[in-house]
Amino acid sequence: MNKESVVAKKKFGQNFLKDESVLRKIIEAMPKNDNKVVEIGPGLGDLTKFLVDVKSVEAFEVDTDLCKLLQSEFKEEIATKRLHLNCGDVLSAWKSALVDEPYDLVANLPYYIATNIILKALADPMCKNILVMVQLEVAEKFCATAGEKVFGALGVIAQSVGTTRVVVKVPPTAFDPQPKVDSAVFLIQKNADRSDKLFEDMLRVAFSQPRKTLMKNLSAKYDKAKLQEAFEELKLTQTIRPHQVDTKDYHQLYTII
Ligand code: SAM
Repeated sequence: MNKESVVAKKKFGQNFLKDESVLRKIIEAMPKNDNKVVEIGPGLGDLTKFLVDVKSVEAFEVDTDLCKLLQSEFKEEIATKRLHLNCGDVLSAWKSALVDEPYDLVANLPYYIATNIILKALADPMCKNILVMVQLEVAEKFCATAGEKVFGALGVIAQSVGTTRVVVKVPPTAFDPQPKVDSAVFLIQKNADRSDKLFEDMLRVAFSQPRKTLMKNLSAKYDKAKLQEAFEELKLTQTIRPHQVDTKDYHQLYTII
């Protein structure tokens, strides 16, 4: 099999990025440091080719056909250890840390598991930065700030560990085959290793019905008197909606209740 004869597999979320200007923008946006790069889903190796030029890369590809292709395409880089290719499902390989040294995740992610991968990377103490292509809607959720309609649990979780920004929006025409949705590359620069399951549980309750008030949502699970006390202390009104409360206040709310 060669690159030209590959038929994209929908079940693995295969949309290959063909626009070289976007590939270059990803490389330009990479944080400058000595961290290793982890690429999830190298696919046909178009992004990998740029990555191995600047960093040593650990890649995870689930599709065995593509893995064989990559093994022959990157024979030299694999021999010189510039590239280490793992063939298999990245989610099965991921224990508390995906690799045992500091790394930046740089990837055009498979969209069907993109949110799951980003949440795992945010909780992974070895992962220092996340620069990924995802569905535009997902990028906007992770990069949203308090007051924006799309601000939700993902925005709070991302802001709790670092800073976020959309690097570039990408139209379907940049890919082959073309996805049905717009995409975006976004960056999370981590500056803390905060991962707290109970805090995330509280966020799920807080944003369970985004159009209802925060008080109503939280009352479904937490003690009303404690909530009244916390709202008063943080000067939150009874009618405030979940997307109007900022990350700092969510952490204080969590501490109080
Ligand atoms: N990086 C390539 C590019 O930019 O053209 C391909 C990106 S494509 C959107 C997603 C890639 O992730 C595919 O190569 C797919 O086979 C791979 N993939 C899907 N699920 C995966 C999994 N669970 N573990 C590892 N790789 C996976």
